Amino acid sequence: MSTDTVLAEIKNLRTYFYLAEGVVRAVDGVDLVIKSGRTLGVVGESGCGKSITALSLMQLVPSPGRIEGGEITYYRTIHKTASSTTADAINITRLKPDSREMRSIRGNQISMVFQEPMAAMLPVRTVGAQIMEAIMLHQQVSKEEARKRAIEILSRVKLPNADRIVDTYPFQLSGGMRQRAVIAMALSCNPNLLIADEPTTALDVTTEAQILDLMRELQREFDMAIMYITHNLGVIAEMADEVAVMYMGKVVEQTDVTSIFRKPLHPYTQALLRSIPQLDDVMARAAGQKKRLETIKGMVPDPYSVLKGCSFHPRCPQYIEGVCNQITPEVIEVDPNHIVRCHLYASHAAQAQTNKDATP
Ligand code: SF4
Repeated sequence: MSTDTVLAEIKNLRTYFYLAEGVVRAVDGVDLVIKSGRTLGVVGESGCGKSITALSLMQLVPSPGRIEGGEITYYRTIHKTASSTTADAINITRLKPDSREMRSIRGNQISMVFQEPMAAMLPVRTVGAQIMEAIMLHQQVSKEEARKRAIEILSRVKLPNADRIVDTYPFQLSGGMRQRAVIAMALSCNPNLLIADEPTTALDVTTEAQILDLMRELQREFDMAIMYITHNLGVIAEMADEVAVMYMGKVVEQTDVTSIFRKPLHPYTQALLRSIPQLDDVMARAAGQKKRLETIKGMVPDPYSVLKGCSFHPRCPQYIEGVCNQITPEVIEVDPNHIVRCHLYASHAAQAQTNKDATP
């Protein structure tokens, strides 16, 4: 498995929605790097822009939204050997959503699994017909061959009796089986990048654990990158190699999965971690003790508003008057491969600048 080949790079991405009530800056200057064979976890509350970042990558931003600026570079593999990879850099933001090139990438090299499997599959067509359609759209194969491959991929995602499931309709399957079928559809063309947008939120915990195991197994088998979007830090701990924390359209912290849990820097990340129930809390409640779970105070601001300064300042317990409500924090690299957007770490930025100036 490769660990440092960049597969996709998002730079200063801005995706806005123009509504009668105002402009929603759903994604407002996002930078992310997705590496081959690795999992990037993207975490944050509802409305923080994680799904719209993914939809921008697929050129599937729904109207009245549009990509307003920035770049998404996808490195399409041309030639690969054990020691090197030759890739063609494609700027996805310059492609028209319905262009031939974008259609050859979407669903083929980059695929997506959505939260609600019923919404991802047509109820009036069989599971097999929908998988076969995806295969025949991107690969020059006969109907018989496509059916054979559909059965093969359905058994790969551990659906029992795949040769029977291929002829069933989505509504005839349970929630867990449907989500497996959706994953099979997304994997049918052997993508380089799988975007999984809250794929287990609607499932019970046992099925969730099975789906997560399955995704890890398939990732190893296909050597694909996964961009895993969730609000669940437990799932992040299990799935991700790197983690990006988003708040109001921006990445506020990014690092490897161990550092995010051991040394969270941003007050928002710290608050998210404090709001996870601990075993002690559960035991205390079971013993009849009153113990409240920590919450993040306040609400996510109105999406039409543009806050001066740091967008987290109305909710931040470490807010600095006159600074946080006035100046937008820039990205600061506090440790190698650990970046944060917060004024509390301004001294690191100053030190980095001094070191840079001192370098001959
Ligand atoms: Fe809190 Fe200020 Fe940091 Fe924003 S910049 S997270 S308000 S301390």
